[in-house]
Amino acid sequence: MGPLTFDISTARNKRVLSIPSIEAHNVLARTSTRDFAAPQEFLEHIDIGPELVVSADQVHADGICIVSEKDAGGAQKRSCDALITNSPNVALIIRTADCIPLFILEPAKRIIGLVHIGWRGAVKRIAAKVIGKMCSNFAISASECIIAVGPSIKKDCYEVDKAVVLPLEREFRDHWKYLTKKDDDHWLFDLEKLCIDQMVEAGAKESNIRRSIHCTHCEGDLFFSYRREGERAKRLFSVILMRE
Ligand SMILES: [Zn+2]
Repeated sequence: MGPLTFDISTARNKRVLSIPSIEAHNVLARTSTRDFAAPQEFLEHIDIGPELVVSADQVHADGICIVSEKDAGGAQKRSCDALITNSPNVALIIRTADCIPLFILEPAKRIIGLVHIGWRGAVKRIAAKVIGKMCSNFAISASECIIAVGPSIKKDCYEVDKAVVLPLEREFRDHWKYLTKKDDDHWLFDLEKLCIDQMVEAGAKESNIRRSIHCTHCEGDLFFSYRREGERAKRLFSVILMRE
């Protein structure tokens, strides 16, 4: 599993991250930086019209929506944490600040997915469920999927307490692999590794998974971080769109 080197490009004084392993397939896969305060501003910057966009309400659950062009452009957010489409020119968008934006592409049949994953979604195995849904709905193989784990909070910065550890213990026999004890009440949690292992278990090839080198918590110059900035933290926007 190689690290994901996002390409950071600057245009009109704003920085944007792109994912070369996915963009090589005529797919746009981008994450904004703190240079963008609102999604409209980011979408305009990357030349995506509002009529193409489908977004999710992101309730930290495991809901998955398969969408198409008829869902695009509406003001209403879909009720889920994961969006999948096989339609070109439909822009899936999610918002994060420390959570994982997960990008998935099956390049032969051309199916894309975009997922918001925090610890609650990880406990519900949403990464594996999205891969499973893409496979069952579109008759593709998980091993063909190209996957990118976008910028999120890394283990060394992600301190959690029993509110997170107890559900992990209940749900995963090997939970110890993802937790490092700091003191009696605190652990460091490797959310990224848990999600990657779930996808590999679901049939994804480890060599097809790239993970971001960036930590949203450490890199305050580039990213918003809920852990660093609290309730007032703004959000990063991730977008994936297949071109025709
Ligand atoms: Zn960090």
